[in-house]
Amino acid sequence: MKIGSPGHAVPRELVALNESALPRPPSATDFAVVDDPVLGHVERFHLSNGIPVTIVPRSGSPTVTILATVNTGTLDEAEGSYGVAHYLEHVVHEKTADFPDKGSLAEFVQARGASTNACTSRERTAYHIQLPAESAEDGLYGVQQLLFHALITPDVVNLHRGIILSEAGDYRVDGKQQLLADIFGQPSLCRAICGSNEDLHRVTVDSLESFRSAYYTPSNISLVVVGKISPDFPTLIERYFGGYPDTSNAHQRQFNEAKVQIPADARFDLWGSSHSRISFIFPTPIGSIADMHSSKVLQLILHGDTDRSFNAILRERLGIAYNASATMERLRSYSWIDLRTELPVEASGVGISTVRSAVQDFLRRPFTEEDKLEAVKRLKFQLLHEAADPLQAAFQTSALQLTVPHLGRPGRLLDSLSNVTIDSIHNTAMQVLDDSNMFLFINGGLDNALLKKVYLNGTIEQENRGSATRLN
Ligand SMILES: [Zn+2]
Repeated sequence: MKIGSPGHAVPRELVALNESALPRPPSATDFAVVDDPVLGHVERFHLSNGIPVTIVPRSGSPTVTILATVNTGTLDEAEGSYGVAHYLEHVVHEKTADFPDKGSLAEFVQARGASTNACTSRERTAYHIQLPAESAEDGLYGVQQLLFHALITPDVVNLHRGIILSEAGDYRVDGKQQLLADIFGQPSLCRAICGSNEDLHRVTVDSLESFRSAYYTPSNISLVVVGKISPDFPTLIERYFGGYPDTSNAHQRQFNEAKVQIPADARFDLWGSSHSRISFIFPTPIGSIADMHSSKVLQLILHGDTDRSFNAILRERLGIAYNASATMERLRSYSWIDLRTELPVEASGVGISTVRSAVQDFLRRPFTEEDKLEAVKRLKFQLLHEAADPLQAAFQTSALQLTVPHLGRPGRLLDSLSNVTIDSIHNTAMQVLDDSNMFLFINGGLDNALLKKVYLNGTIEQENRGSATRLN
């Protein structure tokens, strides 16, 4: 439901207003003050057109950081226009309605001591600016110009084609990304953010305009401001961003169900290195926020420092120099746990069987309340560490606003994580870390004979460096 519409219930995590709250902007709805366990005092509201705004006041800071996130990226690109999301991120900086001379917007903000940048990922395009607190309004103005008033002209498009082609130059499809793309039936997972050379030559003013009009709409945008905020700042944000109507035909994104296509698979990207990087990939179904949080806690337990962690099991068994880590990556509905280890080639075969048995043993041991608390404590430490930097704090906040939009907003991550139950962690672990849900990817050198003997009975067809080799 759109915030502000009749019948909208204020989410439970948005607690009552308190005295120190900034004044509510004229058209804002659901203004709320939250004491976030990581970010501290946080103020949230929606502009009259629905754009969510989060302010993280830091009165001691000399700067203000503004982050505008557009909920779009390479996952939204159509066949034949790969690279258009990142291309658009480049060209919007050059000319705008109020700064029609190429580069004059950049000069305007730089003259105020601002540092500014942007980035495009598979899911998001983010624009940020950090500037002295006294010039904060000019920062809002600059971001407004590039989000809503960029002039896309043929000279700018051609200039950036050259720049992006050189950025795209040495991209090579990574075998692991290819595997993930196959697992989830989602080809965009192995595409370069920059796009393909072929498609980059096809980008025009029109194709950029049509991508922009589909995705750069208020319903796809969120704002975060961190720093020394003047009392009138919420009103200024409304003035600069609240007046753009949310187009009723805003693009409805399709969420593909994560579906695993290959039940058990192993691939190799071999290039004669003395070491092997071994990855066990476990796709993780995310049907709800609870699933997402159980997976996150599971990942933290796997990666933990306690003697019950997966790392500790491996350390004890392998007894040689290695790195092992578990990470969970998340791309909208695609999520996976990646257990990685790096070993000398001669230990790779033993390493693979050891990792497999360590997974089995990890599943056999009971999960305890202590595991969970330790995991949540480590996450808090990590988030606090990041939040000390205003830009990182802004990105963290933005992730909470937009993460997994089809599931709704997760709210306060730490609170929700402490609600995860031991049973749900156990169930997630049994479901996700199952042999039938396991994919193996090896990058680097490999002792084939040892691998065959220890791990597989099948045959290995080896191809050239850079291509994936399948085992049957
Ligand atoms: Zn770029």
